[in-house]
Formats: sequence, structure tokens, C-alpha cells
Amino acid sequence: MDNSLAELDARVAGCRACPRLVDWREEVARTKRAAFAEWTYWGRPVPGFGPPDAPLLVIGLAPAAHGGNRTGRMFTGDRSGDVLYAALHEVGLASQPTSVSVDDGLALYGVRVTSPVHCAPPANKPTPEERDTCRPWLVSELKLLKPTLRAVVVLGAFGWQAALPAFAEAGWTVPRPRPVFSHGAQVVLESLTDSPTDTPPNSPLELFGCFHVSQRNTFTGRLTPEMLRNVLCTAAATAGLPTRPYAG
Ligand code: SF4
Repeated sequence: MDNSLAELDARVAGCRACPRLVDWREEVARTKRAAFAEWTYWGRPVPGFGPPDAPLLVIGLAPAAHGGNRTGRMFTGDRSGDVLYAALHEVGLASQPTSVSVDDGLALYGVRVTSPVHCAPPANKPTPEERDTCRPWLVSELKLLKPTLRAVVVLGAFGWQAALPAFAEAGWTVPRPRPVFSHGAQVVLESLTDSPTDTPPNSPLELFGCFHVSQRNTFTGRLTPEMLRNVLCTAAATAGLPTRPYAG
């Protein structure tokens, strides 16, 4: 059992439980993309990013081969991250609109960003077995965040399906049948009644479904910046976080 998110993040970064993903992340780190030839790729599992007492969590899918797998930070160095961090900044939840490297000075305000699979998968598609193998990391992260965590934005159906059992294992009740993912979905998960460390005790958690910030969704307009900002603002308000008005 990890006592802090920092300890957990360090252990995540050393994980080698999925042979296919270990091979892939390391091969990508060796061969690189020409545009990033000067980079020393991270090439390891990418831990969550953000404060350990975050009331709001954003859950994606998995790091990108030349994004998080290159930079070592969630959603950093790829187009998906460009969209996500620009939106977080616009609503006042991030210190700057871009996230390009671990030493770029970015700070998140009350928000942590993570994913149910911590290694970059080929074609951005982890197998169900890899998703399940990685779940204990998400469960541990949720348990450590639980005292303050009040809202979660889940980006896409994969993250939704991967995260629901993790919420159940981490101390919230997940309705049966399991709620279905959609953009705009909202579900309240009650806390199990033995959570005195929650502030206040036994606080519920509210989930918000949002289309993933993938290029396929953002280039086609399936997910617009305004749609993303709206979900983030609603979730932040639920989590008790202040946001700022944005244009559009
Ligand atoms: S995907 Fe998760 S469980 Fe698999 S090797 Fe990476 S960190 Fe470990």
C-alpha cells in the first residue's frame, strides 16, 4: 500500500507487467519519430499528473506513443493534450494553455489527469487483458484521492468502462446495471459508509462522460472546445472548484 501519490507514481513508472506494452513503449523510445530525434524518450509507464488533494480527476485512455511516452507526462506533447490543456487553462484550472515537457512549469489547480492504462499501446488500443492488468494502479490512485475527490470527467467509452470497476474497488457504489457512456452522461456514485476520512465523511462522487479529446473527435467537430469546456466547468462546479468565464 502506498502512503502517497508520489510513492504510487514512482512505482507505476517502474511497472513491467504487460509484455506487449513494455516492448512497444521501449521500441518507440528507441526508434523515435523523426521530428523528435533529439529527444530522449521517457519510454516507461506514465504516472498521473496533478495535485494529490485534487477534487477533480480527468481520466483518459492511455499515453500516446510520441506524446506521454516521449515526455513522461499525461497528455503532454500531442494534439489530444493540446486540446485538453488549452481547455483547462481557459476555464482557469491550469496555469498555462500548453503542456510540452515535464519541466515547462505547468501547474494544475485542483485537477489531476490520469488514465486506466499507463503505457502507450500500439494503435492506441490496449487489450482487455492489459486494461485489467493496469486497473490496480487506478484503484490505488482513487483510494489515495478519495478524501478530497468529488468529481471525475471520463474521456471516452474505453475509459468509462475501465474506470467503473475501479471506482467500485476504491470505495464507491456503482449502480447495476452499469451506467452507459455518452457525452453528457452524469452519474452519482455513493460512497461506502466506512469513509470517515472523506471531507465531509462519506462524500459521493459524480461522474461526467465526455467524448475523448482524440484528433478523430476534435478534427471532425464531434467534440468542440466549447463542449469540452462546458463539461469541465460543470464538473469543476460539482467539485467545488472555482472556474473563470471563457469566450464562446
Ligand atoms: S499498462 Fe499498466 S500494468 Fe501494464 S506495464 Fe504499463 S503500467 Fe504496468
